[in-house]
Amino acid sequence: MVTLGIDIGSTTSKAVMLKDGKEIMASSIVIATVGTDGVSRAIEEVQKNSTVQKEAIDCIVATGYGRQTYQGADFQVSELSCHALGVHHICPQVRTVIDIGGQDAKVLSLNEQGRMVNFVMNDKCAAGTGRFLDVMANILKLDISQLEIQAAKSLKPANISSTCTVFAESEVISQLASGVEIPDLVAGICQSVATRVASLARRAGIKEQICMSGGVARNAGVRNAMAKELGTEIVFDPMAQLMGALGAALYGFEKSSQ
Ligand code: ADP
Repeated sequence: MVTLGIDIGSTTSKAVMLKDGKEIMASSIVIATVGTDGVSRAIEEVQKNSTVQKEAIDCIVATGYGRQTYQGADFQVSELSCHALGVHHICPQVRTVIDIGGQDAKVLSLNEQGRMVNFVMNDKCAAGTGRFLDVMANILKLDISQLEIQAAKSLKPANISSTCTVFAESEVISQLASGVEIPDLVAGICQSVATRVASLARRAGIKEQICMSGGVARNAGVRNAMAKELGTEIVFDPMAQLMGALGAALYGFEKSSQ
């Protein structure tokens, strides 16, 4: 049985093609906001990479912020449930998931069966989300994927005291003008996101193992700062950004096998 999970996020569209609820045949990530052709491009790419024709797909499940905008799905499921399913499938020992996406941050508590038992969310403010990092990377003329390399070079992370993205933007520009090195600024920026989301995590209640999912998990600068903040190891899998789409494909398998 082949199931397709599509995660339509605020910043990216992700797709995972899954065989028999186990084998990840292919995946795709397309940078595009909701309301654009990002979803169809992500589907096209995953179909091409898996060589699965549309007719051979048994079930399509859409999740994410923009899931209502896609009419071609058999089911629409919340991203919270999908992240829980995806993470539990790959890392069954995880009990806390810290998911930082393009526009929000969520902390999920899972039970031993991988079901979500609690969650807290920040979707009111760009600080502590991928948006904060995107804005800062833009100021520093860096690609988002370069932040972790820069952060690793820092010996003295800058202190970014503003929690608001708009004020933090001015603060970074003024520190840059006064000669603070880029690696130190980037490390401070990563630290700022980690501090903010760690306090959200403490509100949810932290239980090990802790895993980061969502696009921001790909940034080792944030992961390392988060590990220090929480005083524990952070589990990371290269599928981090695809956990929602994987969970959607797993949901499709569960439903179709009933
Ligand atoms: P959403 O589901 O809300 O669209 P994602 O979970 O896809 O969000 O995460 C998007 C965020 O991930 C971006 O805002 C960006 O900050 C971060 N990101 C994307 N790609 C990378 C990368 N290669 N390295 C580090 N961070 C990344």
